[in-house]
Amino acid sequence: MQAPYQATLAFAQQQDHNDPLRAFRDQFYFPQHNGRDTLYFTGNSLGLQPKSAEAALLHELEHWKTHGVEGHFRGEMPWMYYHKFLTAQTAHVVGAKEEEVVVMNTLTTNLHLMMVSFYRPSSERYKIIMEAGAFPSDQYAVESQVCWHGFEPEQAIVEVAPRAGEETLRTEDIIAVIEKHGEETALVLFGGVNYYTGQFFDLPAITEAAHRVGAYAGFDLAHAAGNVLLHLHDWNADFAVWCSYKYLNSGPGGPSGAFVHERHGNNPKLPRFAGWWGHDESERFLMHKGFKPMQGAAGWQLSNAQIFSFAVHKASLDIFEQATMPALRAKSERLTGYLEFLIRELHKSEERYHLLTPSDPAARGCQLSIFTPRNGKKLFDYLSENGVVADWREDHLHGEPTAPGEAGVIRVAPVPLYNSFQDVFEFAELLKAYS
Ligand SMILES: *Cc1c(COP(=O)(O)O)cnc(C)c1O
Repeated sequence: MQAPYQATLAFAQQQDHNDPLRAFRDQFYFPQHNGRDTLYFTGNSLGLQPKSAEAALLHELEHWKTHGVEGHFRGEMPWMYYHKFLTAQTAHVVGAKEEEVVVMNTLTTNLHLMMVSFYRPSSERYKIIMEAGAFPSDQYAVESQVCWHGFEPEQAIVEVAPRAGEETLRTEDIIAVIEKHGEETALVLFGGVNYYTGQFFDLPAITEAAHRVGAYAGFDLAHAAGNVLLHLHDWNADFAVWCSYKYLNSGPGGPSGAFVHERHGNNPKLPRFAGWWGHDESERFLMHKGFKPMQGAAGWQLSNAQIFSFAVHKASLDIFEQATMPALRAKSERLTGYLEFLIRELHKSEERYHLLTPSDPAARGCQLSIFTPRNGKKLFDYLSENGVVADWREDHLHGEPTAPGEAGVIRVAPVPLYNSFQDVFEFAELLKAYS
């Protein structure tokens, strides 16, 4: 049994003291505000820099300096095989077999590459079902894929929106929409955790429903990878993509990861866009004609690895390997639960804002989205002036837009690797002091 939450600094400090992951905080650099660590809650946007990143990057610069082109074959981690040094740890983060994952490119690029293989519409089956209010890049990727195949976005893209008066999606409604469009559905593409509301969708239920109507199920895990527990293999997802610079702390523009379920990864006939790095490794340098894909997700690679960004990613994955996702998730539920508790305590006197994010821990990751009906930007600016790093998004959920800065969302993500219960407590104290 965990002790019930208390709204005191002593309680928060006690929680930190008992936290088996507390030492990980020291492995990261915190931006400073007035000579102390900021209350950094934007790991959902750009994770903090691991202190080990610099040495990892310098190591590869040194390797290049010393070996030139021979760096591809020398050293403990020769560049020729670099992507392989990331697969085991990546597989642990997303719940996959090693052959099912590969690190390559960037997120939106990989989303397109996966849709090349998994969105091949016919005149009968051409629809893509996705959540309303998906991240804009995903909306543009889907729209352009649909147009590229000669379909009309208005007909081909089906968005599942919350019910009137509600702010998040019900799984039963997602499934009903999939069933309604049935055999016209080519692909069901959902975010794992919605970037705006913080809702973590029921990915196994969505996958099952998609497969029941003969469609593929793919996921954008940008806000889920490194945040929630994923079991992509067991859930039977067809594909997934994610980025590494949010919860995975691998730096701005860091590389993306992709998952292709083994039943597809081992099918060399599955259409794809090819490049030499996805070609059978034993023949890659024979420069023969005729593409022969590698087994697994590796067969979707196009280019040789971006070593400098991969090196930083590797340094970060090493930390995840030490901390382990189950331990991170256990702390995360407790930490985000504490933030929710403190916000609800404040509500007892006055309701100036409410949480969009579901209160069921199974239906969210670490992020809480605080909705402010009016004057939200002012509250956000006050928090920023007091050393909080969070972010502000104008409202797009509640119909008629208000004047800029009025209705909107402050997204706050206490990250279990480096945020503390004291961070959360201090944030809530700032909210309390605001009037
Ligand atoms: C962050 C994010 C992106 C960003 O895409 P990039 O290609 O990495 O710039 C795309 N989709 C979702 C859902 C995101 O959260």
